[in-house]
Amino acid sequence: MSNLPSEPEFEQAYQELALTLEQSTLFQKNPEYRIALKVVSIPERVIQFRVCWEDDQGNLQVNRGYRIQFNSALGPYKGGLRLHPTVNLSILKFLGFEQIFKNALTGLMMGGGKGGSDFDPKGKSDNEIRRFCVAFMRELARYIGADTDVPAGDIGVGGREIGYMFGAYRRERNKFTGVLTGKGLAWGGSLIRPEATGYGLVYYVGHMLEYAGAGNWEGKRVAVSGSGNVAQYAALKAIELGATVVSLSDSKGSLVAVDGGFITPEDVHAIAELKIQRKALADYPARAGLKYLAGARPWTHVGKIDIALPSATQNEVNKEEAEYLVANGCKFIAEGSNMGCTLEAIEVFESQRKAKKGESIWYAPGKAANCGGVAVSGLEMSQNSQRLAWTAEEVDEKLKNIMKNAFYLGLNTAKEYVADGEGVYPSLVAGSNIAGFVKVAQAM
Ligand code: GLU
Repeated sequence: MSNLPSEPEFEQAYQELALTLEQSTLFQKNPEYRIALKVVSIPERVIQFRVCWEDDQGNLQVNRGYRIQFNSALGPYKGGLRLHPTVNLSILKFLGFEQIFKNALTGLMMGGGKGGSDFDPKGKSDNEIRRFCVAFMRELARYIGADTDVPAGDIGVGGREIGYMFGAYRRERNKFTGVLTGKGLAWGGSLIRPEATGYGLVYYVGHMLEYAGAGNWEGKRVAVSGSGNVAQYAALKAIELGATVVSLSDSKGSLVAVDGGFITPEDVHAIAELKIQRKALADYPARAGLKYLAGARPWTHVGKIDIALPSATQNEVNKEEAEYLVANGCKFIAEGSNMGCTLEAIEVFESQRKAKKGESIWYAPGKAANCGGVAVSGLEMSQNSQRLAWTAEEVDEKLKNIMKNAFYLGLNTAKEYVADGEGVYPSLVAGSNIAGFVKVAQAM
């Protein structure tokens, strides 16, 4: 029992982890980890603050700012900043909680944190965004540091916002350090950081395909949701490896392939440009082979696909959509977003996985499949500490290794702690949760 106000998103993330730990043999083998679960579910520190900024008309505006310093057992708090009108404590606690275990799965020494604001970048001018970012950092600066807490981007925060915040931090603290990741190349950013989450997702799924004996990306039909940084680079890498991408989306609707059409790299680049101008996918000019569906998510409009990559936001695949995907032959689901699937959707995928042999369904949770983003943030921190810059090839190679290790760590941990029987794919959700949790519990 808790006397806290309800925190639905955080409770969902906690349940998703706790259930898989309960259903495994972990607590029988290590009873002391029960208390570790209780400890890890309470943030070490929650910082809330006021952000006052001036709009283009000279009016005073005010928003709520947050930073959750969730767990530092493995290293400095690490995790993104989300700017979105839905941001509240429950959402940031869910994201911070996920981040602890995701960061553990990268194998790098990073704790977990998350922050952001209910500021809505949509419809704001560049100057307004800059003034907000500077005001936000003026307060946040006192709580972060290269060895304390290292924020990065998330929804609504890309290279431009990180740049404004980095400049503000530098002036505020008179320090040039790697206090933020996702920085521009000109001031200490890492090559491949913008691409890392999407590329990493595709590399991770490559291992799922290989292990399942389903070949590689060549010839696969793939539905992607979202059209931000994760979705763009996941789509581009999948296309580069020979797949056909049949959808992208944003909060207002989906662009889906029809009549044998598909999303091309040129589409992705043009949509990326549109997004920089803060325009909607609805503004993308119509062309043969692509159809825009207002108010729809892609999953039930893409026909038969092999792979689904939810890469927009939390809870973007529900039970009915999961059932539709399964019924239409989708075999691999991997989250580019954090908590992209509802608990009920995961249950659909997991019960299919267990029920069938050979022709099974395989679901990979975001904390494993999308850990490439924060992993390259970790590599950016290493480069900053060394005052060195690695080549794109070096970073990409390291990213590939990290994704391979994250996949096999989840897989082998599931084999060790979950008895699903012969011929069934090991549960990547249980294995990744247990592996991430054990690392943090041991360190604590
Ligand atoms: N926001 C990203 C995530 O959810 C990246 C965080 C980071 O690079 O610190 O993992």
